Amino acid sequence: METARLSMTTDYAASTGDPSPYLRRIAHAGFSHVHWCHQWNTDFVYAPCEIAQIAAWLKECGVALLDLHGSNGPEKDWAAAEEYRRRAGVALVANRLEMTARLGGQVVIMHAGIAARPDGAVPAWEPLQQSLDELQPQARQLGVRIALENGDWPLLHAVLDAYPPDYLGLCYDAGHGNVDGVGLAQLAAMKERLISIHLHDNDGTADQHRLPFTGTVDWGRLMTIVRTSAYEKCISMESAMRHEGIANEEEYLATAFAAGRRLSAML
Ligand SMILES: [Zn+2]
Repeated sequence: METARLSMTTDYAASTGDPSPYLRRIAHAGFSHVHWCHQWNTDFVYAPCEIAQIAAWLKECGVALLDLHGSNGPEKDWAAAEEYRRRAGVALVANRLEMTARLGGQVVIMHAGIAARPDGAVPAWEPLQQSLDELQPQARQLGVRIALENGDWPLLHAVLDAYPPDYLGLCYDAGHGNVDGVGLAQLAAMKERLISIHLHDNDGTADQHRLPFTGTVDWGRLMTIVRTSAYEKCISMESAMRHEGIANEEEYLATAFAAGRRLSAML
């Protein structure tokens, strides 16, 4: 079996429930790392025994954690205006910071969770600022950074400008950047803050999470920017089966692995 320094998202088929079958299939397909994306949009709090079990599965499979998608859950939301919800959201992010450190990762990816303004101005983000302030000591102590995923670029600029790179960085999501049409230009301007990548494709009309090279993302241009950025880790894919038309998981992962190898060569 061929193996390579490549990362695959754990939620390529499902994002809740027992993750172990997916970890085994990802490892069997030859990937060296996983992007932990289970429970990425829920209020699920991982208990210590669950984190220990996941550590045991990763070890058994021989795959490492590259980074982890944290959650601003529907109720526990770090950017919520209601203080009790915001504080619960901080506890939820803290849970993911601890989990990431325990599993050997260094980055937790978060969505800002604040709607863009139609006039393109920076939306109010005081609750998010309060949450980032509260989380900074723990993140530093654990040696885990937070990466904000691209959504609203004006907000992203404002938040990244307010915190140092050894605490807060950028996760570039290739799908989001292709849908908004300005992602690559924005990334090029912020590439010194890039610490995580979510690579997947779409036709430009919606966030379809398809495999690289199946849509309209300019992979040559993107890989050139990543190559000259602060990002130092391996290719990391956040593609999902649901829009690909491949029913067999092994076949899907083999196709993902080949796409990942092609991207690695471009880096
Ligand atoms: Zn993403």
